[in-house]
Amino acid sequence: MSKQITMYDTTLRDGTQGDQVNLSAEDKIRIARKLDEYGIPYIEGGWPGSNPKDERFFELVRKETFRSARITAFGSTRRSNVRPEKDKNLAALLKTEVETVAVFGKSWDLHASQILEVTLDENLAMIEQSVAYLKEEGRKVFYDAEHFFDGYKHNPEYALKTIEAAVNGGADIIVLCDTNGGTMPYAISTILKEAFLHLNVPVGIHAHNDCGLALANSLMAVMAGATMVQGTINGYGERCGNVDLISVMGNLQLKMGYQCTPPERLSQLTELSRFVSEVANVPPLNQRPFVGKSAFAHKGGVHVSAIVKNPAAYEHMDPEQVGNRRRVLVSDLSGKSNIEYKSREMGIRLGGKGFDSQKIVDEIKKLEDKGYQFDAAEGSLELLIKKATGQFEEPFVLESFRVSIEKDRGGETSSHATIKIKVGNDEEITAAEGDGPVNALDNALRKALTKFFPHINEMALVDFKVRVIDGSDATAAKVRVQIESRDAREIWSTIGVSKDIIEASWQALADSVQYKLSKEVDD
Ligand SMILES: [Zn+2]
Repeated sequence: MSKQITMYDTTLRDGTQGDQVNLSAEDKIRIARKLDEYGIPYIEGGWPGSNPKDERFFELVRKETFRSARITAFGSTRRSNVRPEKDKNLAALLKTEVETVAVFGKSWDLHASQILEVTLDENLAMIEQSVAYLKEEGRKVFYDAEHFFDGYKHNPEYALKTIEAAVNGGADIIVLCDTNGGTMPYAISTILKEAFLHLNVPVGIHAHNDCGLALANSLMAVMAGATMVQGTINGYGERCGNVDLISVMGNLQLKMGYQCTPPERLSQLTELSRFVSEVANVPPLNQRPFVGKSAFAHKGGVHVSAIVKNPAAYEHMDPEQVGNRRRVLVSDLSGKSNIEYKSREMGIRLGGKGFDSQKIVDEIKKLEDKGYQFDAAEGSLELLIKKATGQFEEPFVLESFRVSIEKDRGGETSSHATIKIKVGNDEEITAAEGDGPVNALDNALRKALTKFFPHINEMALVDFKVRVIDGSDATAAKVRVQIESRDAREIWSTIGVSKDIIEASWQALADSVQYKLSKEVDD
């Protein structure tokens, strides 16, 4: 039986301290449900004493039933010279009615004397009495020893006394924090071993990523005997973030033989990561280990021909173990094997109309010379191959469109588009308004197509990027427009290139819609 390591998620508390991360109480509930579904045993909901949003979360979460996750509340030890039962922060923790609370205190003498401005003895009393009071009130108490490692480096004797105070108060777990994220992995091991000599309760680790070492530090702590890892999904958190629990679970369970999540859940790791980015509205990082879109992407022709023979040649593990997938990118670096692989993946037969893999590679190279970039536009690539090989007929033909923008003094701009398309022998003319010319064109195109293809309404544009590609003569330069679209099942990217931004947008838009329609034809 492999050793169990407990995951403690603080995305909803520490994670929200990250730049760009902003979660409403309702968003937090959605994430909590997902974490529960995934099998994370502890979910830190927030700091109820610190803001109304967190208080609202604890109100909402009381109505939820979770399969196995426990929601915890976070707060500080009592203020100085106040009895615990009179302290507002501790009262706010109890008011949440959660059974487990995480309470943090100061382990670094500098923080006690210079930041809190209390005597070192009073700090010890604050820790012990706060923990003891919460225990008397029937709570399970996780004690977070803030700045433990820095404290230990400056005054080891005192740092150890602070955690002994928490143990004397009755803490169930002592979580050692590398709050400033500046500790080296070898120091984590040494200090942890020392701390273990003074502790007879389980130990956890809470690492920040300021030196890019949060993951290494968390793994070292586990190897030294820690049995709980605190972190956030996708490593969101203050400054450089917390440790990314996604990587923690991937490494502990797949590489080191520990048990942290039910094995059948591991294949949902990618989904969990993307769900949290979606709700937090932070674009997912393609290079994220294990779950990023590029984590198992291959571009160089040599790599691609090797993984076709055996994926282990350039992959450290099977992407499906974490619910990710292998991708072969097609670009001017690519050779025939990329196209062959890609076509198989897309379910396209090569050779139609004389277009074999070599001819397609030539075609792609020509287009990439003009500024197209297919590794970022797989939707357009799929259409290109299907059209070249005679496996896709354009479902509609553009006859013409007109876009106009109006701005009058003091007013906002307004955009209108009219479009004329032909589907078979039927002609359709529609007009629409929009937020900007591209949106107006998109609206007009959909309106025209809805009559023929009602399911077009299932898709939505999610991202629109414009990039100048040869910047030599300012406005005459070419632009590349990339559009990302989605429906309930997938996300696809399409591309357009032109000197005219509207023309480039139209190409990407038309590809996006055609991609959606091509899927319906397939099904
Ligand atoms: Zn933290």
